[in-house]
Amino acid sequence: MNIILNAGREKSLLRRHPWIFSGAIHHIDGNVASGGTVDLLSFNKQFLARAAYSPNSQIRARVWTFEDEPVDKEFFRRRIRTAIDTRNSIFDPTDAARLIYAESDNLPGLIVDRYGDVLVLQSLTAGTEFWKETIADILLEETGLSIIYERSDADIRELEGLEPKTGVLRGTLSSPALSQVEGFIFPITENRLKFNVNFAEGHKTGFYIDQRKNRLRVRELAKGRDVLDCFCYTGGFSVNALAGGAMSVLSVDSSGDALVLCKENVALNNLDVSRHTTLEGDVFHLLRKFRDEARSFDMIILDPPKFAPTAAHAEKATRAYKDINLFGFKLLRPGGLLVTFSCSGGVDAALFQKIVAGAALDAGIDAQIVEHMSQGADHPIALQFPEGAYLKGLICLRK
Ligand code: SAH
Repeated sequence: MNIILNAGREKSLLRRHPWIFSGAIHHIDGNVASGGTVDLLSFNKQFLARAAYSPNSQIRARVWTFEDEPVDKEFFRRRIRTAIDTRNSIFDPTDAARLIYAESDNLPGLIVDRYGDVLVLQSLTAGTEFWKETIADILLEETGLSIIYERSDADIRELEGLEPKTGVLRGTLSSPALSQVEGFIFPITENRLKFNVNFAEGHKTGFYIDQRKNRLRVRELAKGRDVLDCFCYTGGFSVNALAGGAMSVLSVDSSGDALVLCKENVALNNLDVSRHTTLEGDVFHLLRKFRDEARSFDMIILDPPKFAPTAAHAEKATRAYKDINLFGFKLLRPGGLLVTFSCSGGVDAALFQKIVAGAALDAGIDAQIVEHMSQGADHPIALQFPEGAYLKGLICLRK
């Protein structure tokens, strides 16, 4: 089957951007199943790329290859092998890492994270759904592992007309009795600290592995500080702060289950539990309450959920980021550090920095950026696909 583009609409493909929106299509020649492979042709019938067809999505096709080559099992094997080899070449082996990051690895719609001996797969598009069994076979062959757990329950599947799917895709899985929390919970090691990860019930594929190097930075900076970890989830930053010698750590999240795992993760690393407190609640409300109580901290971490999945949500998200950063600055002692993140694709790094600057101004605080942060090297950003950059963070020092 061929998709013939409108005149002039080949430009993004010539720049090697992998998406074709429905409005770029002149007509479609022939029939193909959802997720099947189509050729993308210019208005003059020149071959441009070979792609996966998504009949229900505004992004009607996503490019597998810009070469005139077969898209088959060997094609996916080459792509998967390259992605895994790249990880091995750029950082020390770790047992919790993203092996495949979708468009950034020329595999649109496919995310694969490794947690110890388990691979967790997210299939987000019609194309990856079409090839899922083949991809699963290759993943086991190339890694030598035997278990794949599927977490294809991200909201964006809806835009492709796909139902959520979760469960064991390959192998058998029985959870070691490690936690009071339900789910499949397995231990991983990150920067020499242990974490129990719930990849069946947890957020995303179970753990925010994109924060690996930023957590290490928090560990390096936490010594002697009273730390407030907002949106702590299972304690990635809290555990690192304690390991780095924080005087005290207060971990706040709205999820009770996440806080149980957070406490268990502190204990798992034999850290001083007397320095650690958890508090279940809404950060927006608690920051105000702490202000009313005149509480203050030497380090405040703000790692909220995605307030703006796309640019359309940017305005509302801007208000939410401004609010927490404003109160974060207010609760910071002189010499204190605000470690603040946004994982919203709809808010870029420049806008985020502007929001944080506005928050400091309104809080009446003089602060400086001492460090910029981003996602780890196992979440690379293809130069032709800047949408792959989503995590940005700033460390601000209150003067
Ligand atoms: N910092 C974490 C990841 C944070 S994910 C880590 O390094 O692992 C975002 C977290 O915010 C989730 O755990 C979610 O339960 C929590 N959350 C979402 N909205 C919240 C709110 N209004 N108040 C408190 N926690 C919230």
